[in-house]
Amino acid sequence: MPVLEPIIELGRGLFTTLRSMFEKPVTVQYPEERKPVKPRFRGRHVLKRYENGLEKCIGCALCAAACPADAIFVESSENSDEKRFSPGERYASTYEINMLRCIYCGFCEDACPTEAIVLGDQYELSFTDRKQAIYPKDMLLEAVAASQLLTPQKTEPGKFTRSVPEMKDPQD
Ligand code: SF4
Ligand code: SF4
Repeated sequence: MPVLEPIIELGRGLFTTLRSMFEKPVTVQYPEERKPVKPRFRGRHVLKRYENGLEKCIGCALCAAACPADAIFVESSENSDEKRFSPGERYASTYEINMLRCIYCGFCEDACPTEAIVLGDQYELSFTDRKQAIYPKDMLLEAVAASQLLTPQKTEPGKFTRSVPEMKDPQD
């Protein structure tokens, strides 16, 4: 009956409202509450360290070569046992990523021979100036843990000659 139709529709609407009152809320009270990201999420980059605090980055610039957005700039310098930043001959004396150019494709992560650059779970990136979007090495480098030493370190001569560590074959 056409007269009853609006009343039925009103009842259905009220029922939907009533039902949603007992459902678990889907909204998150950000920033107090942060939803964990998915394991495959690619966020802000982090330059990793080894357990002893040495930097994994050896300044090879393969990440910059692989980057389709030309977002990475790397300049390398020589290590010495007196002043060592990373294992091997060289380290990244300059490492910058332009976060406005980055498309978070993860190619830099894939190209890195030492697993130094990792796209982490940090997604809070905001700038008020274009220059602020260029993240320098000190912003990207992982903080040292209590058990780690800061770089540069004075190391035992001949101990850290290998730039790329021996790694397990992922196929094994
Ligand atoms: S995630 Fe992609 S676009 Fe961003 S810096 Fe790495 S390679 Fe370049
Ligand atoms: S992050 Fe990796 S690929 Fe990029 S310069 Fe450092 S070691 Fe080379």
